[in-house]
Amino acid sequence: MTAPAPPAPRRVPCPTCKGPALFDPSNRWRPFCSQRCRTADLGAWASEQFRVPGSVPSEDDPNVPSAH
Ligand SMILES: [Zn+2]
Repeated sequence: MTAPAPPAPRRVPCPTCKGPALFDPSNRWRPFCSQRCRTADLGAWASEQFRVPGSVPSEDDPNVPSAH
């Protein structure tokens, strides 16, 4: 039998730049590759995507009565 492989650093695509991001506790910006990408993503949220919770009911929200 072969011994289990040591836990290799897992890499995931950075949501911002699509580059390889180290998904490991040593990478404090995970799943982003860097602070720059993380900040860029949060900036997008704050300026475009962020909405006040409850102002736009989600269709997936079980607390919202069905409109059927
Ligand atoms: Zn990145």
